[in-house]
Amino acid sequence: MTPKTNKNLLAFIYIIHILCFTIMWGQKSTKQPNFIIIFADDLGYGDLSTYGHPTIKTPNLDQMAAEGQKWTNFYVGASVCTPSRAALLTGRLPVRSGMASNKSRVLFPNSVNGLPANEITLAEQLKKVGYSTACIGKWHLGHKEQYLPTNNGFDYYFGIPYSNDMDNIAAVPYKDFWKDPANIKIANFNVPLLRNTKIIERPANQNTITKRYAEETISFIKKNKKQPFFIYLAHNLPHIPLFASKEFLGTSKRGLYGDVVQEIDHGIGEIIKTLKQEGLADNTVVVFTSDNGPWLSFGINGGSAGLLRAGKGMTWEGGMREPCIFWSPSKIKPAVVTDLGTTMDLFTTFSAMAGAAIPNDRIIDGVNLSTTLLQNKPSPRETVFYYRGTDLFAVRVGDYKAHYITQGAYGMFGEREEHNPPLLYNLSVDPSEQYNVAKDHAAIINQINMTVKAHEAKMVKGKDQLADRE
Ligand code: MG
Repeated sequence: MTPKTNKNLLAFIYIIHILCFTIMWGQKSTKQPNFIIIFADDLGYGDLSTYGHPTIKTPNLDQMAAEGQKWTNFYVGASVCTPSRAALLTGRLPVRSGMASNKSRVLFPNSVNGLPANEITLAEQLKKVGYSTACIGKWHLGHKEQYLPTNNGFDYYFGIPYSNDMDNIAAVPYKDFWKDPANIKIANFNVPLLRNTKIIERPANQNTITKRYAEETISFIKKNKKQPFFIYLAHNLPHIPLFASKEFLGTSKRGLYGDVVQEIDHGIGEIIKTLKQEGLADNTVVVFTSDNGPWLSFGINGGSAGLLRAGKGMTWEGGMREPCIFWSPSKIKPAVVTDLGTTMDLFTTFSAMAGAAIPNDRIIDGVNLSTTLLQNKPSPRETVFYYRGTDLFAVRVGDYKAHYITQGAYGMFGEREEHNPPLLYNLSVDPSEQYNVAKDHAAIINQINMTVKAHEAKMVKGKDQLADRE
């Protein structure tokens, strides 16, 4: 080969290299997946048929679970609404952002503050790498304009900015309010419905709210199908008071609670249908979970944590372990995942999948689950921290969970109690937390104590954002 042909060959190889790189890069940037997070409110571990409910029918979620990954050890960042939502959207334990408090468990319509501006939401992460973003549904991270979704990385907002039982204007004392079903009418809950930052309806018509949230989601998908999108669909229901559309009333043997869950499931089916019709299903990741466990003090109108102990407001498993289904037909193969995961991991995982760098100027509690989702590898998560307000109540390391403090909520499950040594449960053999095995496992308690020490050494608690009221 002459030096000239050698030179030509090298130039040819160089051009092929550049071409391949350009094509690969082009494919990478066009293949950013769409993300839809569907977040129910106060739905328990036992409230879907695929998680064992005998009479609530959730065929769409059941099918997603059969086609995708169903997680059985998936946790939220707190056992009540506001801190749980802050955890999901920031990838951080809410105690770090000040979105957890021992003075007020959640934000109220007369709260002064909201999610601090220096927190980075998943929507802000994804916007940086070209996503269209929408928040549809319950926000509950501050209802004043500067705290609304449109000031936290979302291009579009449609929803009720806090819980559907707030702005109660009935002339009945709150403690007696719930005794009479006649009080449960839309007019008694003067909650606003917002589009972006403007109130478009008050009181929001809660009979049709679940249906309208699904419709808004479908319309956003259709309008934004040409670029990657992220939709955070946070249903207000099945948080009490329960409301359903006419078409769903009386459809479930479980009663009104079942009707409500079945309407949510139906809407999810319509969203999946839309993704398929628009040719987006293979490049979209849909995840379904709930913000905290069932509100048990509402009896038949609250949900069920199934075999898990206790419910909303508590650090027992029923308060913080939730159903979680990941669905993406060409990316996620069917599996039941018994490893640990949390809602905070969605921040890290979806940022990584979209090509958005994880912030390095702060502690992020989320871990990247993408190799578990895409390759069925073990989850990198080994610990779960169970906070109530700003106090660390319990810690799970692997199979074992140590409770240092236990406390009931809403008049159920007893008073605050400190435990030294901690109560210890092996959750893989005793998910119902019935058999304290502390005395047989001093070494495991030692190991968990060390995990707590390392965690607390780096903990900087944020300024309380929930306590101040007008
Ligand atoms: Mg909730």
